[in-house]
Amino acid sequence: MAEVSQHTLKLHQKVSIITGGASGIGEATARLFAKHGAVVVIADIQDEQGQQVADSIGSERCTYFRCDVADEQQVIAVVNFTVNSYGRLDIMFSNAGILSTSKQTVLDLDLTQFDRLYAVNARGTAACVKHAARAMVEKRVRGNIICTASVAASRGGSSRTDYVMAKHAVVGLVRSASKQLGVHGIRVNCVSPSAVVTSLSKRSPEAAKKTMELYESLSSLKGIELTVDRVAEAVLFLASESSSYITGHDLAVDGGLTKLPDADD
Ligand code: NAD
Repeated sequence: MAEVSQHTLKLHQKVSIITGGASGIGEATARLFAKHGAVVVIADIQDEQGQQVADSIGSERCTYFRCDVADEQQVIAVVNFTVNSYGRLDIMFSNAGILSTSKQTVLDLDLTQFDRLYAVNARGTAACVKHAARAMVEKRVRGNIICTASVAASRGGSSRTDYVMAKHAVVGLVRSASKQLGVHGIRVNCVSPSAVVTSLSKRSPEAAKKTMELYESLSSLKGIELTVDRVAEAVLFLASESSSYITGHDLAVDGGLTKLPDADD
């Protein structure tokens, strides 16, 4: 990616938290945010990997803080750490997410797995939005909250019912929070990527390959692959003043897959 010069920095001096920043989309976004002048706190449960990413970005720009988003107290702790360390919170990128290990069709839903996935993907996102917004309101910061949803939130799925449901919940949260927080000047949006290779997709390579092939065939942008860097660029857009009048939006990063349903006609 091209170097960014001083006067094109989009997040100069902004203070951000990125959940799930130790790998994949979150890591790419942490690197891009830092390149654009932001201070980044990576909130994750993979300590070694999260610390490595923070070290490689540089301690003046990036810190790792252990936070399981399924535990509200840990979400409060990372928000407090950020505000106490840097004086404010400008951007929350609530991105951490997991997949269940079984197929989770509606006929064989494993409800224990369902609860764990929901605790991270839906309830964890709600905790991040809630406590980021509280910190922003308290400090009168006209902040910016971005969540990671998925094309699964507009398509449904032949499996992964729990994941599809949780991602619908994320979009619902974004719509409600954006209405409620606009009065404080806080914008709330989400990105909805299609399939991108990360450690998440590598956990069930067969299913990921199938999804990847399906989504590629439905994309209008033939010969262009979705990468974590492309998703990060969309997050940067939503986090920056370039999108200053956009809120409540679900930005599909999917080659037209969901917005152009006749793309394969
Ligand atoms: P990834 O596995 O590379 O990254 C997810 C990160 O979240 C990891 O670093 C993991 O340690 C962290 N995490 C997991 N549980 C956590 C918890 N309880 N608390 C804090 N951190 C936790 O996968 P990714 O693909 O980069 O996923 C990022 C987001 O993108 C997820 O919300 C995922 O659902 C979404 N997404 C991914 C794809 C895809 O194809 N990869 C497509 C659409 C949406």
